[in-house]
Amino acid sequence: MAAATIVVRGTLGGKRVNWGVERARREGLKGTFWIKWKNGTSQKWDGPHKDEWAAKAAKARRERELKQIALGLPVADSGKRITLSEAIARFLEVKRTESQDGRSADRWKWELELFQQVSGKTYVDEILKEDSYKYWRHFQDRKREPRTIYNRLCSINRFLSDSICNVAADRRLSVKEMPSYDESAVDYYSQEDLKRLFAACTAEERLAYQFFLYSGCREREVMFATWRDVDFDGCTFTIQAKQIGHHKFSTKNNKPRIVPIPSVLVEALRTYKLINSDRQLIFVNRENGPEGHFLYKLKQIASRAQLNCGHCVTGSYDEWGNLTPGTEKYCKNGPYCSQWTLHRFRRTWATWHLQNGVPITDVQEWIGHSDQTTLRRYLGLINVKSDRAKAHANNLAALVEV
Ligand SMILES: [Zn+2]
Repeated sequence: MAAATIVVRGTLGGKRVNWGVERARREGLKGTFWIKWKNGTSQKWDGPHKDEWAAKAAKARRERELKQIALGLPVADSGKRITLSEAIARFLEVKRTESQDGRSADRWKWELELFQQVSGKTYVDEILKEDSYKYWRHFQDRKREPRTIYNRLCSINRFLSDSICNVAADRRLSVKEMPSYDESAVDYYSQEDLKRLFAACTAEERLAYQFFLYSGCREREVMFATWRDVDFDGCTFTIQAKQIGHHKFSTKNNKPRIVPIPSVLVEALRTYKLINSDRQLIFVNRENGPEGHFLYKLKQIASRAQLNCGHCVTGSYDEWGNLTPGTEKYCKNGPYCSQWTLHRFRRTWATWHLQNGVPITDVQEWIGHSDQTTLRRYLGLINVKSDRAKAHANNLAALVEV
């Protein structure tokens, strides 16, 4: 029988000893983990391994290999182990190729390096389910939102299940094991809040946030919106790849898409173009480059309009995601309210379209989603607030009067 054994190698009274794991544990021997096996008559050693887990993984791998040799099968990638660092580098390379937007790759880099640090593992084959739980606990200890933790673990699962890592399913979290979170019920702006927000805007700010609200576009899509993307007669806006100076813009899934825009926005853009037709971009910063402060400015306006929720705390986070003490910003004191985000315009826009009876397949194309999961959730929220749902609730009360 092809077998490998884990051995703890340490020194005892100045003498080197090789003990089995059980004995080493029983007698408190501190040492390094090795595996040994027989190749014919000669004794082979492999190590040292980082810890018992690493040694167990190496043992399993070696035994598989010995079995293959015994069966006369070719041994694939014999002895070749992929380190977590290698896997991360390869994964990031793919991510960078997939999208020219460096920010997404930077985010992945931050995330995967954090996972590597938290897990403390060197090789991909050492990764166990426990590492995902450790990563989960890391965020839990830092009091992160359940939704954030869920997102973090989704990313790690994507990385581990990718063909680069190919970590077996029983060494990752299953769908059932993923953290749960309460989906926020109201995720879109109320008409009243928007009225107050727009009333506090300057003419230029008004146009910018109207653009967000009426096109449902993402931040970068608005940043790189050009006059050429607007069809003034057809009342549409096209999101497509382009080169703006030294900035390269590519769409999220490398596919262009077209959204309908209301004539009120088209007319506002037409007027704005009269004085700004000499430039490519619709919205610019002071240096005539892409406007990078839409979010910052939105929070300023919301604060001015006294639309802050008055309860949230934000601040700067270090690279491990901890709120740095002394950097806390309270929205009751200034333009820091987390309720005001650019993405929320997009959700409001999608919700309104669904509410107005636009078929979900159309909204899906306009929003640029590959599936309907998110939109179905919006639809569920709309349906439960519908007149029909209210009638059902009243029918029930009429039927079961108490
Ligand atoms: Zn707030």
